[in-house]
Amino acid sequence: MGSRVIVRGEIPTAPVPPATKTVQTPAAAECTFSEQSLTGFRWVAPRRAACIRRNHGVNRQGSDGCPSPETKLMLLAQISDLHITAPGTLAYGRVDTAAFLTRAIDALNALAPRPDAVLITGDLVDAGGIDEYRQLRTLLERLAVPWFPLLGNHDDRANFRAVFGDRAGAASDGFAQHAFDVGDMRVIALDTLDPGSGAGRLCAARLAWLEAQLDACRDRPVIVGMHHPPFACGIGFMDAIRLAPDDARALDALLRRHPNVERIVCGHVHRPITARFGGTVVWCAPSTAHQVALQLTPDGPDALVMEPPAFGLHLWRAETGLVTHCRCVDQGDGPYVF
Ligand SMILES: [Zn+2]
Repeated sequence: MGSRVIVRGEIPTAPVPPATKTVQTPAAAECTFSEQSLTGFRWVAPRRAACIRRNHGVNRQGSDGCPSPETKLMLLAQISDLHITAPGTLAYGRVDTAAFLTRAIDALNALAPRPDAVLITGDLVDAGGIDEYRQLRTLLERLAVPWFPLLGNHDDRANFRAVFGDRAGAASDGFAQHAFDVGDMRVIALDTLDPGSGAGRLCAARLAWLEAQLDACRDRPVIVGMHHPPFACGIGFMDAIRLAPDDARALDALLRRHPNVERIVCGHVHRPITARFGGTVVWCAPSTAHQVALQLTPDGPDALVMEPPAFGLHLWRAETGLVTHCRCVDQGDGPYVF
């Protein structure tokens, strides 16, 4: 694998200064984020980055005289559905989600190359409790990579903000939506939480915010993160609580006007699932803990299984575009060289 051209982004050990930027959109949804959280991802070769932008979606081989882009890469890890509970308790009375997250963090910290950032696609905690968010915060402090959470149906905006108020998207009074850069990639994190419902929503305000974000980065590759998948996966009891079909249709139309969206990455279904949607590809990440039982029937019972925990690794290289890998947290024997 080629050498990195990204300045390594390390989590600041000193207190983060109060410098923040607030973007007010026409839909009145706010995006607040720390300037310092973005500085670690600055390209060191602006001319080469410009080549990527020119070539994106047209000619990724850099035939316009730019240096070969083969050494450019970006690695975004995705963990999902952590379902952290209060200390001393288990999810569903049987799953020690904190221990599972600790193992996932150990695996992420040991990766080589190490990811440039980690996106956490919702269900951060199991019941939205403030003690759960405090426990999650403690666990995430060990993650040696910048991390960016978004909300799922098990989350609670007010309690999330009470504990993660200094994090991207958490400081506004509106929806917890935010965007950040990883190398040349723009990552847009959506808030599909609909309090009181297991299903997801992208109302007009949230979609307008997304459209403004997409219009502002038409010349760059984009990943859209959201908890609820916008498609039916065939597992009946999960399809009943997917993104609302009317909202999914509006999202589909919006994405088709922005072909630079490389991937939609979701959680919620606790399984690795791929589908075509909105002129792009949707990928759902498995959970770092328990998985949803694979029952491709409309009437199967709500059920979890202890299949191996895993996470996503989204690898961007200018010449190949975005490639998504699914990696189990626990590795088997090997590797054996052959
Ligand atoms: Zn979940």
